[in-house]
Amino acid sequence: MTMKWIKESVKDLKTYPTPRKPMEVKLDSNEGKNICLLDVCESTFLQDLQINLYPDGQSCLLREELGKYLGLPAANIVAGNGSSEMIDLIMKAFVEKGDKVLSVFPSFSMYSVFAKIYSAELVSVESRLDFSLDVNAVIRKAKESAPKAVFLCNPNNPTGYLLEKEEVEAIAKATDALLVLDEAYMEFAYGSLVQDVTAYENLIVLRTMSKAFGLAGLRLGYLASNEGIVEAVNRVRPPYNLNALTQYLGVKALREKDKMLAYVEEVKKEREYLFCGLKKLGINAYPSDANFIFFECHVPNLSKKLEERGVSIRSFSGDLESYYRVTAGNRGENLKFLMSMEEILEDSPR
Ligand code: PMP
Repeated sequence: MTMKWIKESVKDLKTYPTPRKPMEVKLDSNEGKNICLLDVCESTFLQDLQINLYPDGQSCLLREELGKYLGLPAANIVAGNGSSEMIDLIMKAFVEKGDKVLSVFPSFSMYSVFAKIYSAELVSVESRLDFSLDVNAVIRKAKESAPKAVFLCNPNNPTGYLLEKEEVEAIAKATDALLVLDEAYMEFAYGSLVQDVTAYENLIVLRTMSKAFGLAGLRLGYLASNEGIVEAVNRVRPPYNLNALTQYLGVKALREKDKMLAYVEEVKKEREYLFCGLKKLGINAYPSDANFIFFECHVPNLSKKLEERGVSIRSFSGDLESYYRVTAGNRGENLKFLMSMEEILEDSPR
């Protein structure tokens, strides 16, 4: 099957085959013997990993486990090195030079970076002044500019704003473009469309284990979509893209889902604590459905002043100068941040 969105250069490609046959004498892939890390492998769980062999090129076990987690068949999932790799692969499969890519502002900056890398034209819809998103404005812009793909982040980074499920559905139905729905922070919210991907021709949901599962260093992200889109993305996915250790630890983490759920509850409490703490300091903080709080503060050099106190937060430039994003840490970290903010505000004339 060929997707109607697939680009010319990918039309005739086939997915690189990575068959995996357990064999007593395996001499089919030019694999060497593990001589450097023998001690590591003997003394730890790494024994199971057989790191001298190429990993499972389809990440089968991991995708099965992801499927159980999401309530989807493994055939609807592609796994890779973070959702960042998924954004890259989607552009690689579908976005031609000169195609339009629609996104909203502000949002995750990598959509525009990858659009640029693939020589696409970025079309943007501004959030409202309170950083909520006007769904009708997105639909209007999608109709007017006929983009190849629409990138939406829900809940949105950096604002924390959550679109209702019905609102996202309305966008998916109103456009003929691919809708790439980045749900990196959805474990902290409600309203995922991940189980609905098979009901749409044009919906791709991105997820990651970097946030709620707390495994950013593993580099494990994935997409869920219908089988046609999955097949197109697999054509441009490098063989063996996901390393053996990440696949192994990803499966282990997914089997500890309850721990993630408990952590998510803690983060939600801490997010509220941060929000209320900032409000008490008279700061314009925005309600968030993610694991961070977006706020406005006009103290000059705020980041530097916080860093002098040992606290780092995310600052922005351009149209978002004077806006900041602070991740919900544990209670001690959040208290330290809020106390530092209080000190800085006391020292700064308003
Ligand atoms: N999407 C969003 C919205 C993000 O905030 C991030 C990380 N900052 C990513 C994708 C990338 O995450 P990863 O590559 O670690 O999965």
